[in-house]
Order: sequence, then C-alpha cells, then structure tokens
Amino acid sequence: MLASRLLMGKRILLHVCCGPCSTSSVERLIAEGYEPVLFFSDSNIFPREEFMKRYDNLLIVAERYGLPVILDSWDHQEWLEAVKGHEGDREHGERCSLCFRFNLSRAAAEAEKLGIDEFATTLTVSRFKRSETIFSEGRRFPGFQEIDFKKKDGFGRSIALSKELGLYRQSWCGCEFSRRDSGAS
Ligand code: SF4
Repeated sequence: MLASRLLMGKRILLHVCCGPCSTSSVERLIAEGYEPVLFFSDSNIFPREEFMKRYDNLLIVAERYGLPVILDSWDHQEWLEAVKGHEGDREHGERCSLCFRFNLSRAAAEAEKLGIDEFATTLTVSRFKRSETIFSEGRRFPGFQEIDFKKKDGFGRSIALSKELGLYRQSWCGCEFSRRDSGAS
C-alpha cells in the first residue's frame, strides 16, 4: 500500500480494472470531493504476469495522485468456475456479466470490511463496455454507485493522461478468451 495524502473528502472504494482506466476516474472523483481508495481486484486477468503488469501501472497512477492501493489476491481458478460454460461467448455476452459480478462482489465485500459506504468501478470508462450492463450487476450489491466514467469525456481523458504518465495500455480486455478473440500474441 502506498502512503496516502491527507484525507479530506468522503471515502469511496474504487474498483480498478487497470491503470489507464483509473486515471480519469480518479481525477473526476477527486474533483467531485471524494477520497478514492483504489482496489485492484481482477482475477479475470490472465496470465498472472499480465495481472501484475496492470497492477504495476496502477501504482504509477496511485503515486501521481497520492492514493492508497489495495491489491486483492489473484484467484483465476475461482473466476474460471464463475464463468464456466461461457468460455466461447463473444465479448459483451453473459460471460462478461458474470465477470463484472465476480469482481464487483469482491469490491462490495472489501468496502464493507473497510467501513466504506460507497464503491464504484473504473470498468465504465471504456467505450468498449456497456455501462448499463455493469450497473445492472453492480445493483446487486449495497453501496454501489452508478457512476458512468466514460461521460464528461472520461475515455478521451484517460488516453491523454495515460500518455502523459507513460502507462501501458493493453490491446485486449483481460481474460484468456478475450485475448484469443482479439488475436493478440
Ligand atoms: S472479455 Fe473482459 S469483461 Fe468479458 S469475461 Fe473476459 S475479462 Fe471479463
């Protein structure tokens, strides 16, 4: 965990999918008076080296904004069980809904453990993901905030900030199935 700056606003747990998506989300939350606590919980990402690479890039963002980071364990086998039967789904199908549910359930549990009333996710930054699908999964859990981070030019801003910080931007979503379908090597 990194040292956090003086906390002044309302705490919110921010589930983070990767460093680039965290940039404009963090910027917006701080501008709106929040003090984000970053939670990297992404057992969907495969292989583990890729998971750690994305985490390392989040640390660059956390340092830039002086925010604390919590690293969740990488439980890819458990995640595979959660999406079992949907390995062949195309992106945006049921597998992705189950994936969102898996990660958001962990974020909800972490927020409760820390006594943080609200949580949100950077998953909504991507213009390749439907925010309504993410929201419908998030509504299952108390404290979920339906913040659409792609609004207010969040996606464009994330690209600009990622360039500024020299962040790694992956070419596929995260799991081995999305990598297969993207044709990434
Ligand atoms: S494509 Fe992305 S959102 Fe869908 S299951 Fe894979 S990692 Fe999760």
